[in-house]
Amino acid sequence: MTSFVYDSEQLSAIAPEALCREGLAYFKDNRVIDCYEQEGALYAKVEGSSAPNSPYYLELEHNDQGKLTVSCECGTHPEQLCKHAIAALVSFTQDTIEQGSYVSAMEAAIQDRKKRGQTEVRVTHLSGHPWFGKWQAYSIDASGPRQRRYEVHMRSMQERINFCTCPDRANNQLGTCKHIEAVLHKIGKGKKLVGKDFESAATFCLSCLGWRRNDQIATHQQFTCRFNGFTRSVF
Ligand SMILES: [Zn+2]
Ligand SMILES: [Zn+2]
Repeated sequence: MTSFVYDSEQLSAIAPEALCREGLAYFKDNRVIDCYEQEGALYAKVEGSSAPNSPYYLELEHNDQGKLTVSCECGTHPEQLCKHAIAALVSFTQDTIEQGSYVSAMEAAIQDRKKRGQTEVRVTHLSGHPWFGKWQAYSIDASGPRQRRYEVHMRSMQERINFCTCPDRANNQLGTCKHIEAVLHKIGKGKKLVGKDFESAATFCLSCLGWRRNDQIATHQQFTCRFNGFTRSVF
């Protein structure tokens, strides 16, 4: 399945961080004049930095291995993306979202985090009761033995108000990431244990299994049960 829809995490997987930022700035600057998909290729016209009247024409394609290749008038090597290519991808992704495939694109992106949460992440509960609070997530890098460590703060089973220190959670606008999904998966698997803990946690709301966060409380997180108004504080 080849598509030119790339979210922030997918982009940072195929291009260096600094280049992604440059491309995004180009897009925000409205430098993408034209961008469309035709017969499996993405064609774009992107305004350059020094000569606004002479835009760069570029063409993006997936090669036989599914790797994205670019042919741009700026002269960058085809297997290295340039900022014009990044700007075009961001623009195409944005257009797709605006044209109404938004919900399915979001849903697909969440499913992707769920799937990867189960295979690429290990989690341990650090503190909180019964499973609220802090978790540590180890992200197993597919490209090597390197492990990345992030901290997940669990606030709800149902609402997308959980927090993670990873860059994907900060940028993807999905309200979740593979680390949060890994914790949710683990909690789901340990239903027996969770059930037992529910009974002993007197302050925990049994009717909704989730709490709504009150943002106006600055010193600590306060959660209110959306059905019966019980509150619970997490410091
Ligand atoms: Zn270029
Ligand atoms: Zn995360």
